[in-house]
Amino acid sequence: MRIGLGSDLHRLEAGRPLVLGGVEVDDVRGPVAHSDGDALLHAVIDAMLGGAGLGDIGDHFPDSDPQYRGVDSRQLLRAAAELLAERGLHVAQVDATVLLERPKLGSHKRTMREHIAADLGLPGGAVNVKAKTNEGVGPVGRGEAVAAEAVVLLADS
Ligand code: MG
Repeated sequence: MRIGLGSDLHRLEAGRPLVLGGVEVDDVRGPVAHSDGDALLHAVIDAMLGGAGLGDIGDHFPDSDPQYRGVDSRQLLRAAAELLAERGLHVAQVDATVLLERPKLGSHKRTMREHIAADLGLPGGAVNVKAKTNEGVGPVGRGEAVAAEAVVLLADS
C-alpha cells in the first residue's frame, strides 16, 4: 500500500462561483483560479499523485495550458485516477478536510463525498469529507481564502 498527502489553497474574490467537491456552494465569493478552483478536489488529486510518486497537479494539468481554463475539476480527478490505473494503482480510501470560514458546508458534505466516490469508483464509506472554519485566524479565518487537505491510501489494482 501507498499513502499520499495533498493540500490546496485559493484566494477568494467577489463574483466568482465557489465550487467544492464538485458542488456549487451558494456564496458571494469564489476562488481565483485558472480551473474551477475546486480546492477540495485539487487536494485529493495531489494526494493521489503524491502517493503514486507522480509529482503534483501542476505537472499534469498546468495552469498555463488553455485546455484547463475553467475546467471542471471532477474531470481532472477522473484523469488522475486513469494515470494511477496505468501504473497498476487505485485509490482505496480518501479522507479530506475543507477549511472555509463561511458559509457552513455541513449540508454539502454528503454530496461532495458522493462525487469523489463516484469519480474514483469507490463505495461511499471509503470517502470522508470534513469541514471546519479557521476560528477567524489567518487568511482563511478572515474569509480571504479557501483551503483543503487530503490523505489517500492507494492499493495495487
Ligand atoms: Mg488549486
